Amino acid sequence: MDCIFCKIIQKEIPAQIVYEDEEILAFKDIRPMAPVHILLIPKKHISDISEILPEDAGLIGRIHLVAVNLARELGMEEEGFRLVNNCKSNGGQEVFHVHFHLLGGRKLGAFAG
Ligand code: IMP
Repeated sequence: MDCIFCKIIQKEIPAQIVYEDEEILAFKDIRPMAPVHILLIPKKHISDISEILPEDAGLIGRIHLVAVNLARELGMEEEGFRLVNNCKSNGGQEVFHVHFHLLGGRKLGAFAG
């Protein structure tokens, strides 16, 4: 499958990995929009959030737990952070493997899109 994030999971493309377990990978965004900009992805290929199934609910929830743990480890718990998903064209999605952006380390602007 020609998916850049699947290639990162397979270690065919290098990435700065900050967390990995059997079903989740987190790595630094190549074009950071904030001092902390991490992408969290399921290892299962799901093209976008509209494609998740009831059986994916636990996985998507665990990704959120990993994100919060990373935010805590990076000292962002007190001042806060942003966790965001872009879905399809109008949502600004560029990579069609579902991912969550963990952003923080500075005061982020109001989210107007
Ligand atoms: P989207 O617009 O929500 O799909 O975000 C895709 C993100 O993936 C963008 O922030 C890109 O900078 C990031 N990205 C694309 N290719 C790579 C890569 O090879 N390594 C790390 N991040 C990437």
